[in-house]
Amino acid sequence: MRILAFGPNGSGKGTQGTIIRDRYGLDHIESGEIFRHHIKAGTELGMKAKTYIDAGNLVPDELTIPMVAEALAKSNERGWILDGFPRSKAQAEALQETLREMKIDVDYIFEIELDREEAKKRIMGRRICSINNNHPNHIAFETIHPVEKDGELVCRVCGGSLSMREDDQDQDAINQRHDIYYDEDKGTMAAVIYYRENCDARNIRVDGDRGISDIAENILSEIEEGEAIKLRLKFG
Ligand code: AMP
Repeated sequence: MRILAFGPNGSGKGTQGTIIRDRYGLDHIESGEIFRHHIKAGTELGMKAKTYIDAGNLVPDELTIPMVAEALAKSNERGWILDGFPRSKAQAEALQETLREMKIDVDYIFEIELDREEAKKRIMGRRICSINNNHPNHIAFETIHPVEKDGELVCRVCGGSLSMREDDQDQDAINQRHDIYYDEDKGTMAAVIYYRENCDARNIRVDGDRGISDIAENILSEIEEGEAIKLRLKFG
C-alpha cells in the first residue's frame, strides 16, 4: 500500500502518518525527518540543507528528489506512507516519473485541511522526544500532553526529555512554510491539485480541526473502504 500525506505544517499529518504506519506495517518516509537526521549526523547533505530549513524554504530539488527516491527504493514490501514530499508541482511530476520506473502506483492520498492560524498555533506547541521522535507530545492537546516530572515537562510515552524544533519557534520561517504550502500555482497545493487531477489514487480529504482519534478513524475507514473495493474488483 502506498500513501501520500498532505496537510500544512502543524495539521497533524505526521501523527496520523504514524498511526497509519502502525496499522498496516508500512514505512513512514518523512523528508523533513531525513534532512534532520543528516543535519544531526553532520553530513554534507545536512550542511547544505540546513540554511534552507532554518529559513523555512524548500531545499533544492537536486538534493531532495534523489534523497527521497533512495528512501523509496529501500522501503519495505508492504509499502510506505510518504510525508513531506512532494511539496511542489515539480516534485509531484518527478515522483510520478520515479514511480513509473519502479512500476508502482499511489493507492491513497490523504489531505488534512486546517486553517492557517490554527496550524501555526499547533506548530509552536509541539515538543520532540529526545528518545523517539515518533512519540507525539503537544502542549495544546490533552490526549498527547507531556507529563510533569521534577518540575519539567517530559515525554508522555517514555519520560524522555523534550525539545522544540528551531524552525517551529521562528514565526517568519513558519509563515514561509505556509506560503509554500498554500501556493496553488507552484507550491504544495499545486502538487495536491496535480494528484487530484492526474492520479487514480483514492483521495481522502479530512477536516483537521478535530481530535487525533476522530481524524484517524476518518482516514482509516476510507482506506478500509478502498481496500474492500479493490478486493471486490479482484475477486468479483
Ligand atoms: P517538515 O519536517 O516536513 O516540516 O520539513 C522541514 C523542512 O525540511 C522544510 O521546511 C524544508 O526546508 C525541508 N523539506 C522537507 N521536505 C522537503 C521537500 N519535499 N522539498 C524541499 N524541502 C523539504
